[in-house]
Amino acid sequence: MNIALLGYGRMGKEVEAIARERGHEIVLIVDKQNANELTAENLSKADVAIDFSLPDVAYANISACFDAHIPVVTGTTGWQERIQEVHARAHEEEQTFLYASNFSLGVNLFFAMSAKLARMMEDFSMYTPSIEETHHIHKKDAPSGTAITLAETVLPYMLQKNGWSLNGKDDKALSVKSFREGEVTGNHQLLYDSAFDTLKLEHNAKSRKGFAMGALLAAEYVHNKKGIFTMKEVLNIE
Ligand code: NAD
Repeated sequence: MNIALLGYGRMGKEVEAIARERGHEIVLIVDKQNANELTAENLSKADVAIDFSLPDVAYANISACFDAHIPVVTGTTGWQERIQEVHARAHEEEQTFLYASNFSLGVNLFFAMSAKLARMMEDFSMYTPSIEETHHIHKKDAPSGTAITLAETVLPYMLQKNGWSLNGKDDKALSVKSFREGEVTGNHQLLYDSAFDTLKLEHNAKSRKGFAMGALLAAEYVHNKKGIFTMKEVLNIE
């Protein structure tokens, strides 16, 4: 495949390395200093675009790919208040779009396990559920996109909760705590705490390579398909 990389930071570089290993060609790299090169003409050389940029620019990058009718896979977090607009445009124009807050296989298994645990804990109101996430100090958004997806995955089984809140004290909301420490790649925990014990389901990322591989698998999956996809389809996880 011919790939356009939008964002050439930590993740963009990991994706580039794995893409080349898998025999793909990188035909366009766009970062802050050459953002004006994100044109329909340049994008038309690519079969798919992979975006790991910044919360402020992700929406514009996705729009540029849609303008050029190029499938786009994005892992950028912190812009999801506009995802409904993206989905609406993708539907109307038969575009190809995949967003994942976390591309790693392990995290997608962790989401599936969390849903099962939350369903199992539904009747045990003596346990208070919460989510904690820890990332490196360079991360721009909080809570992490992965923690938001985790909250959205378990909330349907927590009818006493009316949503999630960041570091909140409101008993009615599922508490999501964010910690920023050193160079931590990404740690997520779903906790159930009672007066007697604590249950914990945890995912700890060891490197960014797992995210990059997942993004590549997603790009290979959506290539030549139309519609809106998720990692559940790419990895065939229920
Ligand atoms: P980073 O800061 O290292 O890289 C972001 C890059 O985007 C920088 O090089 C920056 O110069 C560039 N950029 C700025 N303006 C741009 C523009 N207009 N067009 C293109 N690029 C532009 O960050 P990162 O660690 O590579 O993470 C990128 C995003 O991916 C973040 O939102 C992060 O939370 C997310 N992320 C997602 C996953 C996942 O699995 N979904 C995994 C890791 C990181």
